[in-house]
Amino acid sequence: MTLPAFTVLRPRTLSEALFRLQENPSQVRILAGGTDLLPSMRQRLFAPEYVLDIGGIRELKGIRQTEHGMEIGALTSLREIEHSCDLEQHYPLLVQAAKAVASPVIRNMATLAGNICLDTRCLWYNQSQAWRKSCGFCLKKDGNLCHVAPGGTKCWAVFAGDTPPALLCLEAEIEVMSAVGTERIPLRQLYTGEGDSYHRLQRNQLITRIILPSTSADLRGSYRKIRVRGSIDYPLAAVALALKGDEERIEVLRVALTAVNPAPTMVEGMAAAMRVATTPSEFAEVVAELAARTAKPLTTSALTPEYRREMIRLLARRAFLDVVVAGSGATIRTSSLR
Ligand SMILES: Cc1cc2nc3c(=O)[nH]c(=O)nc-3n(C[C@H](O)[C@H](O)[C@H](O)COP(=O)(O)OP(=O)(O)OC[C@H]3O[C@@H](n4cnc5c(N)ncnc54)[C@H](O)[C@@H]3O)c2cc1C
Repeated sequence: MTLPAFTVLRPRTLSEALFRLQENPSQVRILAGGTDLLPSMRQRLFAPEYVLDIGGIRELKGIRQTEHGMEIGALTSLREIEHSCDLEQHYPLLVQAAKAVASPVIRNMATLAGNICLDTRCLWYNQSQAWRKSCGFCLKKDGNLCHVAPGGTKCWAVFAGDTPPALLCLEAEIEVMSAVGTERIPLRQLYTGEGDSYHRLQRNQLITRIILPSTSADLRGSYRKIRVRGSIDYPLAAVALALKGDEERIEVLRVALTAVNPAPTMVEGMAAAMRVATTPSEFAEVVAELAARTAKPLTTSALTPEYRREMIRLLARRAFLDVVVAGSGATIRTSSLR
């Protein structure tokens, strides 16, 4: 599949990039590592007139410690995150989630902001134009019917990025800039929960930094993911869990899911439900039950919704036990089906 024709814009500074975005917002697509955008353009999911290649903007790269925690430039590669000693020491959950993305070659190119803004996915959407045409297209692109839930008007394409659930557990914020101003918002406010218009960024806005607060430093964590192949595969269901405390006393417990809803989703109600549990295995059951109830998988992905929901239950239970019983800090378990 060939790329459609487009003009590449290569700003060298952030202000130039913002100016370019402001000039022609509806015609421009931002290109970071390109590992999501370019395959999608080949499938004619997007055919922008201009591609704004921000890869040369140095001020968007790097990992820094600050007074209030750590900051990661939007263009920082997942490989750099994976190999950062500071992140490994203070935010190990993020490192583990980054390691679970695709493969080493892709992680060399892939950026953190690109992972946060990853397009939602569906069996009826991530296909060639000819394939999609043969089915009459779909609600997310060029059609007016959702093949997953044909009676409704909502798009259910699923968000399947690996790092956003970890970032939600760490209560990360993002800095968003445009030619008219800068704002800082909690990451959880970025996502809409809709499969088609899945985030709230305006077309003239760019994510510049991801901010990890010091209040989330040194949380222990576990990221567990299931995928068809052991590598180079998106999650089909995954759980991130961050925790402070031990078997005797849990002070902080945050759990988030990906690949089962149109947005990465925090599991709510954890504090109240935890009060009824007394032993680690009871705690683990409560976590597993709440996670399974939060997951709303549909037929968007390779495995059945029922299986993926049960996997969320299992992964959540295991993630909790990884941290509390094994006390092993961050762990990554990626299960493949073969
Ligand atoms: C074979 C294969 C396997 C994969 N497996 C996984 C996987 O297991 N897990 C996973 O999470 N992902 C996976 N991916 C998807 C992708 O590699 C990652 O999500 C990656 O992090 C995307 O980052 P990028 O820099 O390449 O994004 P790009 O492709 O450059 O951009 C992705 C989107 O983000 C927008 N964007 C990028 N930067 C910014 C910014 N600073 N501000 C605003 N918008 C921005 C772009 O406009 C675009 O819409 C896979 C991809 C392939 C090809």
